[in-house]
Amino acid sequence: MTSRCCVCSRPAADVCEPCVHQLQAWLAELPTHLPMLRSLLRPAAGPPRRGSTGRAHAPLPVDLRVLDLLGPGQPLPPDDPYGDQDGHVPAGALRYGWARYIASEFPAVRRDRYGTVHIERCEEPLVRGGATVAAWCAWLSAYAPYALTQPWGSELYRQLEDLLRRVRRMVGAVPQRTTKDAPCPSCAAFALVATDGEWWIRCEACGHEMAPEDYDEHRARVMPQLAAVAVHLLARASAAA
Ligand SMILES: [Zn+2]
Ligand SMILES: [Zn+2]
Repeated sequence: MTSRCCVCSRPAADVCEPCVHQLQAWLAELPTHLPMLRSLLRPAAGPPRRGSTGRAHAPLPVDLRVLDLLGPGQPLPPDDPYGDQDGHVPAGALRYGWARYIASEFPAVRRDRYGTVHIERCEEPLVRGGATVAAWCAWLSAYAPYALTQPWGSELYRQLEDLLRRVRRMVGAVPQRTTKDAPCPSCAAFALVATDGEWWIRCEACGHEMAPEDYDEHRARVMPQLAAVAVHLLARASAAA
C-alpha cells in the first residue's frame, strides 16, 4: 500500500516536503502582521462630530476581535456557555500550547557521566532571544519537520492555517499573486499562479499544483522551445508581409 502525506494525502513516507515548507512559510508570515494587529487593537477614535446624537455608552477602549486574537488564553477552545466567544484560541496561547506539546513529545537524548544514554521528554520549550512572537514562530518552524510526522501533525497544520487566515482577514492582507510565464504542464494553459505565503504554484485552469523547484525545472525545459517557436512564427509572418 502506498503511504501518504498525513496533511495532503500525496504519496510520501509520512509528510511531504511541500507541506513542511508550507507550514514554515505561514510561520514566517505570522510575525510580519503583528505591528498592524497591534495598531488595530485600539479602535479608531475621532473627535465628536457636529450634530451627532452621541453614544449612550463610552466606546470600548480596545477592539475585542483583536484582543481575542492577541490576548492571553488557554491553548484549547474556551468553554462558551453564553455563546459570546469567537470559538478560537488566542494566537499566543496556540503557539505556546503547541510548542509545549511538541517539547513534551520530542525525545531528548542525554548521556550521563557514566556514558549511559538516556532518552527523555523535554519539560519546557526553550526559545532563543526572548519569548517574542517571532522567536516562538522560529521555534515551531525548526520543529515542523518532526511535528508533521506525528499523528497530531495534521491538526497543528490545520490550526496554524486557520490562525493565519484569521490574522490576514483582520489586517486586510491580500496575498500577492504572480502569474508565471511557463504554461501548465497538465493543461497547457498560461494559468500557473504563485501566491505569497503559499508553497504550491497552482494552475487556475485545471487545479494542477507544482512545487517551486518542479516549476523551475519545467520552465527551464519548455521556455527555450516556446521561444524558438515564437521566433519561427515571427520570421514566417515577416516573410509573408
Ligand atoms: Zn503533503
Ligand atoms: Zn492546468
